[in-house]
Amino acid sequence: MAPREKLAIEGGPPVRSTFLPFGAPCLGEEEIAEVVDTLRSGWIGTGPKTHRFERAFAQLVGARYAVAVNSCSSALHLSLIVAGIGPGDEIITTPLTFAATANAIEHVGARPVFVDIDRRTLNIDPQRIADALTPRTRAIVPVHFGGLPCPMDEIGRLAAEHRLIVIEDAAHALGARYRGRMIGSLSAFTCFSFYANKNVTTAEGGMVTTSDPTIDERLRRLRLHGLRHDAWQRFQTRRFMPSDVIEPGFKYNMPDLAAALGLAQLPKLESFLDAREKIARRYDEAFADLPVRTQPRPSDGDRHALHLYVLILEPGRFRVHRNAIIEALRAENIGAALHYRALHTHPYYREKYHHRPEDFPEALQVGEHILSLPLTPAMNDQDVDDVIRAVHKVLRAYLIE
Ligand SMILES: *Cc1c(COP(=O)(O)O)cnc(C)c1O
Repeated sequence: MAPREKLAIEGGPPVRSTFLPFGAPCLGEEEIAEVVDTLRSGWIGTGPKTHRFERAFAQLVGARYAVAVNSCSSALHLSLIVAGIGPGDEIITTPLTFAATANAIEHVGARPVFVDIDRRTLNIDPQRIADALTPRTRAIVPVHFGGLPCPMDEIGRLAAEHRLIVIEDAAHALGARYRGRMIGSLSAFTCFSFYANKNVTTAEGGMVTTSDPTIDERLRRLRLHGLRHDAWQRFQTRRFMPSDVIEPGFKYNMPDLAAALGLAQLPKLESFLDAREKIARRYDEAFADLPVRTQPRPSDGDRHALHLYVLILEPGRFRVHRNAIIEALRAENIGAALHYRALHTHPYYREKYHHRPEDFPEALQVGEHILSLPLTPAMNDQDVDDVIRAVHKVLRAYLIE
């Protein structure tokens, strides 16, 4: 066996000399031109580009309507309100997600009821949802972890049987497909994110898709103060139109300056997904002989949107905790990251709902052994080689033989 290389974290030379970020955005001349065009147009707020972005997005995911907002967190919040969720209601979701998913449920005064994950897919386990239902259960918020679609047929069936609303957190899942149908076309509400490191970015931004015209109308009203008409609609008439407040809404609209980025990014989605797929396949091959696993490749008709490429360390096989492995990779200039430590172990949720770590054993176990590797179409072959070399270097150094 080759002598072990000295890790950068112990003072050795790093695998690469510059830092490779986890999810650098992939921006080109098209994005720059579209933003400049918006700046020159004189209209930078919510207007024609936002409306064009909404139409293109709805068409892409096969939904009748798409409502642009300023984040996926806002998208989730508005969806819960429009679904009529409030105090006393229980909402089923996964503990293995970003804080925004459960926080949105808290913001409407409802209770997030965590249901453990399927340890193989990392998605909410539909078998366990039935056990968590009570007369107060009103909705299910599945999260397509990493971009791998949840079992939506099973979730849809449970929802129909128990009259529950499905609000998908598809922040990772733009481009994902479930049994031949695009994520975004399946449920009453689907929420997407255009945060800087997501599959398509508007710097900050989000979208709700629906096929129900009354949901679309209410989302549009609530995203801008609850006004009957937005500023662009009023501007277009050239007349004086007093704006009526129909209900107290929010300031959650997307500006044209952000939509301009989205308009330039959306046509590139397919090539982005191909690039992610190629990198993921190289990772799969390169790590096959290490005591780690990743999410399964989806079956026919499904597509993993590959927002994340995760490694789950085999418990008991490494001398140090996952956090130390992420630190060591970062010292090698590889921007490894953590998505996610299980939410029920975070102070707010643990204390408010008296959760014990072992209440959701699969999410707990995965949440302590998972890490994400850099994955973005902005990476070149050398970047991918560097990640592979660093993972082998660090994991072999800490492996218990
Ligand atoms: C990124 C993300 C969000 C929040 O998206 P923002 O656009 O940053 O508000 C919500 N849920 C999940 C699973 C995410 O990864």
